[in-house]
Amino acid sequence: MLIQKCKNCSNSFKWSTIIKAIWSWGGFKPIKCESCKTTHLIKPIARIIIIVLALIPLLFENHVFELFKAFGLNAYIFWAYPAWMILLVLLSPFFIRFYIKE
Ligand SMILES: [Zn+2]
Repeated sequence: MLIQKCKNCSNSFKWSTIIKAIWSWGGFKPIKCESCKTTHLIKPIARIIIIVLALIPLLFENHVFELFKAFGLNAYIFWAYPAWMILLVLLSPFFIRFYIKE
């Protein structure tokens, strides 16, 4: 998994630029390449991927709880979901893909 490069000039997008584009209020924002100024849009499938990933700990609640118990981390179980969401935000630039607006 790598952060996608500009489809036009292969300039690497900054991790922070993508974070801001994905997690801004009012949905996805277009990303502009700093080098060639090409506007990229985030693929709509990204929204579905994010929702699915956000729901995974809820779907496997019992497994997550068992896992925490196995490591003796019962006291931290309430941090599991916030931690997962933070991880999801931090790692999102690695699985989000863009396309060039025609
Ligand atoms: Zn570019």
